[in-house]
Amino acid sequence: MITTPTTGIPITHLADKKSHHATEAGNYFVANYPPFSFWQKEQAFAVDKMLDSPAPQDVPLGVYFHIPFCRKRCHFCYFKVYTDKNASEIRRYIHAGLAEFARYATRPYIQGRKPKFVYFGGGTPSYLSVPQLKELTDRMKDLLPWDETEEVAFEAEPGTLNETKLTAIREIGVTRLSLGVEHFDDHILESNGRAHRSGEIDRAYRFARGLGFEHINIDLIAGMMNDTEELWKMAVAKAVEMQPDCVTIYQMEVPYNTGIYKQMQTDGKVTAPVADWETKRAWVNYAFSEFEKNGYTVTSAYTVVKNPDKIKFVYRDMLWEGADMIASGVASFGHLGGVHYQNQADILPYMETVERGESPIFRAYATSPDERFLREFILKLKLGMVRSSYYQRKFGENVLVRFAPQLKWMQDEGFANMGEDEIRLTRDGLLQVDRLLHEFFMSHHRTNRIV
Ligand code: SF4
Repeated sequence: MITTPTTGIPITHLADKKSHHATEAGNYFVANYPPFSFWQKEQAFAVDKMLDSPAPQDVPLGVYFHIPFCRKRCHFCYFKVYTDKNASEIRRYIHAGLAEFARYATRPYIQGRKPKFVYFGGGTPSYLSVPQLKELTDRMKDLLPWDETEEVAFEAEPGTLNETKLTAIREIGVTRLSLGVEHFDDHILESNGRAHRSGEIDRAYRFARGLGFEHINIDLIAGMMNDTEELWKMAVAKAVEMQPDCVTIYQMEVPYNTGIYKQMQTDGKVTAPVADWETKRAWVNYAFSEFEKNGYTVTSAYTVVKNPDKIKFVYRDMLWEGADMIASGVASFGHLGGVHYQNQADILPYMETVERGESPIFRAYATSPDERFLREFILKLKLGMVRSSYYQRKFGENVLVRFAPQLKWMQDEGFANMGEDEIRLTRDGLLQVDRLLHEFFMSHHRTNRIV
């Protein structure tokens, strides 16, 4: 019997799963390495220690600020979001986040450095009012100036945008506006708990285009509840017609802390009411092909880009290559000098901790050099192509030798093609890359994968 090189799972079994597996609860998307379940409270001290060390000369710095507020909680959402906060509570949160940010800005490891990228994520950053946005960004710039910043990325929910707010977002310096569109069909948007409708998408996109943002991305999700092949094709056609600079397409996953999972528990169901994995891959594949026909390039497992020479992903690429990133805000993820960390996940204890002048970090992971190499290899495989010479130069590792069994298996299964120097995923491999990445994890880091 042929098995995968590292898990010993029979290939026939995986092939079955690959073809016919219904969506069950759990995380599919590999966001970081080592997995979050290995991060520990006991390692939080390593962040503080790093902050007291001298600033590095050649490591880029980025900044992440988390806004945990939304108009409504989507049924598939697994983030900690708040839909009931008033203006004074939001102001208190912003002040807490800024106080946390100031704690970092004055420490030896950070002081004097200027961010290369800034990212506002959530939640819904565009939920903030114009005065709140201005206060937040003015203070952030006072603490760590943006004059060397190459990218300011900002996530937005279409229904929270009007011309005044978009103008303010543009004026604070945002270069990459990412619209959480997800789908264009109003019934699908409504039945999945989204707050916006298709008319708001059109309006927000038109305004944003007129304001000259350098890079407008729209997010889509393949396989939402009630989606059908016909509706998905219409959504893709609409996205092509809009001609955004970039489209990010996710495959619907149903993590445990979602409304969908809670409903599954109530109904005693194991299978989520969304498309199965084979269908989701086929739909993403269809979308990729349609965009390619219209001049776009597939640049990763999730993205198509209109002009790859112009459109850069500074946040993603620098972070994957080991940049430092200060993360402020509840539940946010940061990385400093090889130490990953995450903040307290509930807003009230988060604010109270920061207001007492204490660190809100609740878990961290200090990586070894080998884990840093693995992380960069694993994450960059999501781009669909990596070069062995890059890892030889940067880490002194020959990936073709180190991962020979896994790569041979991927080649035999039709998931990858090998050149002399390059490892290139096939379209089939790219469409299920998050499942394949587990093959490269250290054995003690392997946890359950859901497909
Ligand atoms: S808009 Fe995004 S963060 Fe907010 S509830 Fe929906 S999925 Fe979650």
